[in-house]
Amino acid sequence: MDFTLSKKHEMARTLFKEFAENEVKPLAQDVDENEQFPEETVAKMAKSGFLGIPIPKEYGGQGCDPLTYIMCVEELSKVCGTTGVIVSAHTSLCMDPILTFGTEEQKKKYLPDLASGKKLGAFGLTEPGAGTDAQGQQTKAVLDGDEWVLNGSKCFITNGKYADVYIIIAVTGTVEKRGRKQKEISSFIVEKGTPGFSFGTKEKKMGIRGSATYELIFEDCRIPKENLLGKKGKGFGIAMHTLDGGRIGIASQALGLAEGALERTIEYVKERKQFGRTIGQFQNTQFQLADMATKVEAAKNLVYKAAMAKATQKVYSVEAAMAKLYAAEVAMEVTTKAVQLHGGYGYIREYDVERMMRDAKITEIYEGTSEVQRMVISGSLLK
Ligand SMILES: Cc1cc2nc3c(=O)[nH]c(=O)nc-3n(C[C@H](O)[C@H](O)[C@H](O)COP(=O)(O)OP(=O)(O)OC[C@H]3O[C@@H](n4cnc5c(N)ncnc54)[C@H](O)[C@@H]3O)c2cc1C
Repeated sequence: MDFTLSKKHEMARTLFKEFAENEVKPLAQDVDENEQFPEETVAKMAKSGFLGIPIPKEYGGQGCDPLTYIMCVEELSKVCGTTGVIVSAHTSLCMDPILTFGTEEQKKKYLPDLASGKKLGAFGLTEPGAGTDAQGQQTKAVLDGDEWVLNGSKCFITNGKYADVYIIIAVTGTVEKRGRKQKEISSFIVEKGTPGFSFGTKEKKMGIRGSATYELIFEDCRIPKENLLGKKGKGFGIAMHTLDGGRIGIASQALGLAEGALERTIEYVKERKQFGRTIGQFQNTQFQLADMATKVEAAKNLVYKAAMAKATQKVYSVEAAMAKLYAAEVAMEVTTKAVQLHGGYGYIREYDVERMMRDAKITEIYEGTSEVQRMVISGSLLK
């Protein structure tokens, strides 16, 4: 066991850090304030190769391991949670299922443009009536000749409208299981611009306000038969496997937010004086910082371990669930304490910690709430 990062990883981190500091940080407040999807930053990230980090070179990616990719999300999230999740949804939720479950034709058709960032990806599973209970979905796909016809809607879709390629989960029929009828769920690749595919409500959110969160609407949307991703009826498994990877991405977003808030707080308490001393000289401040830093380090080890598990194991659901659960809760706790240690200034939008606190909350909710992560973990303990 070795906890030191390789030279290659350190070099990659330096690259991500410099990009985050120079290109992302200066825009972060504006992106939040104006709820502005950072299109220019996405174009710059594409140029730097950040949109295809774990995709093999043969499909136009950088051919790096999952740890390098999650370090990218972490460094971006240290300065802007919005930018972190754009990369995470694109990579983990759209490219990864195509790479894992796609046919050679699908990989050749979709991955190079996605990995180069010419196109952006998204993932549509959630529906108004099907959140945690993802099997409760209603969107249907019916085979008609050489085409699948999609009808229904998805809600809360990250990268919505800006994405060009969508992984969509839909019901393709019913199957008998142990004498009971169950939904048969399949997954599809749907391109923006397909007739019958439109965008509805854009959500106004508490945090990650530059991230575009849209409703997707399918009205007799016809897609080619060969856009079925994986086997018919295997869509739920594909979605769950995809979310295992996605959870490591969100865990690294949460980790980055916590680290960013901690860094700013350390700087602040060294400067700010009350009672003739810096507030960093009060033991309460020191102990708060010690607890925050220890939890961040524990979260980091879980997140990195999950990334290593994704690189080496077929199944990494529990590692991903633990990393997301813990990192998200640490992000919420650390950002809340960061606001407190900034005093009144922490509550003012000019100081970034309040944005980080708002951004942190979503990491406990999306890609499976913390309760879902506890279900996954306890399920494996008691099986
Ligand atoms: C900003 C944002 C971006 C998102 N991006 C995407 C995306 O790109 N693609 C996508 O498909 N979805 C996306 N989602 C959807 C997200 O994954 C869901 O909101 C989340 O899974 C929770 O579902 P829900 O909102 O329907 O809550 P509900 O399922 O209604 O849950 C409400 C509460 O009840 C709890 N609960 C539910 N069932 C149980 C149970 N059995 N036991 C204990 N507690 C339970 C939950 O944990 C939660 O606390 C996004 C959501 C948001 C807000």
